[in-house]
Amino acid sequence: MPRKGVAFHALVCYHFLMNSTVEHVSTEDVHAFRKKILDWYDKHRRVLPWRALKGEEPVPYHVWLSEIMLQQTTVQAVIPYFLKFVKKWPDVHVLANADNEAIMSYWAGLGYYARARNLHKCAKVVSDEYDGQFPSDQKELQSLPGIGDYTSAAIRSIAFNKPSVVVDGNIERVMARYHAVSDALPKGKKVLKAYAAAYSEGVEDRPGDYAQALMDIGATVCTPKSPSCAFCPVNDDCRAYGLGTAEAFPVKAAKKAKPKRYGYVYIVKQDDKILLQKREERGLLGGMFGLPTSDWVDDKAEQHHLDVLGETNIPESTVAVYHVFTHFELELNVVEITVSNDFCYDESYSWFSLASVDQIGFPTVFKKAYDLRSK
Ligand code: SF4
Repeated sequence: MPRKGVAFHALVCYHFLMNSTVEHVSTEDVHAFRKKILDWYDKHRRVLPWRALKGEEPVPYHVWLSEIMLQQTTVQAVIPYFLKFVKKWPDVHVLANADNEAIMSYWAGLGYYARARNLHKCAKVVSDEYDGQFPSDQKELQSLPGIGDYTSAAIRSIAFNKPSVVVDGNIERVMARYHAVSDALPKGKKVLKAYAAAYSEGVEDRPGDYAQALMDIGATVCTPKSPSCAFCPVNDDCRAYGLGTAEAFPVKAAKKAKPKRYGYVYIVKQDDKILLQKREERGLLGGMFGLPTSDWVDDKAEQHHLDVLGETNIPESTVAVYHVFTHFELELNVVEITVSNDFCYDESYSWFSLASVDQIGFPTVFKKAYDLRSK
């Protein structure tokens, strides 16, 4: 690895001119880098509820559960969910035998609900076909529901201490800055993965600790904004730090504006009951109970009310909720309706007592709408 100074800057310029260059990382550089990272980890590791303390063996069930929850979700958001899941379902056999609706309800608010459906499917496979023992082979892990390239690598390294190339957003950021990678994301992911592989592929020295150490450095030192470079264990050789441009990395391609969609969300009451809809298993928020909604359309002028409301007198909506999904933004006008006892509905709808709503667990978009109801 080049050191800071004239030669270092010359190489940096070369790197900028040569997009997609993955420079050779010597064995000596790998060992030096890993030693600094692991020494830092021994002093500054985060204590997380799914993580084994120093000297303890990791619990694969906890590692798997946390890694599924952490997909697209922050550590702070995941902690309370992880704790209530392991309290309710302390091992994979118990989770496998759980009621699917209970799992979806416990997951409510964490988002990306396909994860919860796959979580249950995966627990059943591990319980039935693997006698409750998660496999450590990466290909075998990837054959399980909900486990892809990143999650299999993370489970293999953290739960089983086996070398694997783990690349989450934190590790990407450290690699992008350490090597001042100018290739813009998302295309530049390949380059960042190649660098991450250079430091981890086949290296037996504490693979689990190394992966978690890099994650911790990315989360607590090499933060997206205002990184604490002065306290970073690898600042001596970090190119972005040497250039004084740490925050400029990783370079990101300009984001396209998200399309917007529109619709109505209904708070339908009858006496002390509220009408809820179980959403279809497939699709967004699939399998979750929520407030009934109309179709979500691209053109606001084409919004129309839900057929099931038929002849019901529908009042004007005066408030709306906004929610950002991965691929679009949603604006739902909130409509509150009281219906009579002869109101008809199909089997996807059910009445719930208003007092029980808090136990059901709504996806966030419905919770926002429900909180706007008149009380
Ligand atoms: Fe990140 Fe700064 Fe460390 Fe470089 S020196 S890896 S930019 S925290």
